[in-house]
Amino acid sequence: MAQNRSSAPCGPLRAIWFANADAFERARFPGSLAFLGGAEPGQLRFWCPCGCDALRCAPVTVWPVAGGEWHWNGSRSEPSLDQPFALPCGWAGWLRLGYWLAGGDVPPGL
Ligand SMILES: [Zn+2]
Repeated sequence: MAQNRSSAPCGPLRAIWFANADAFERARFPGSLAFLGGAEPGQLRFWCPCGCDALRCAPVTVWPVAGGEWHWNGSRSEPSLDQPFALPCGWAGWLRLGYWLAGGDVPPGL
């Protein structure tokens, strides 16, 4: 069922926010996001943007509150995090202004 998800996207992947955790888990859409249990901020969950179908998790607080490993800009439509990801599957990059950006260059804006 996941054979079409293994190819890397050609450009930035839109990060779709799910308010409903069940819908998030059913959709399994690469790069989509939801907070665990709907608790915002907290444990941000996302389907790996590379399309490998892995469910990732990151502890997130809202900028500039300390405590999480990543800081979120508080936006659901154009979410940004202040730190990049280096994921076990090999994908590395950023969530910035609603898009997943692969690569190590620091993108503008938070
Ligand atoms: Zn992956």
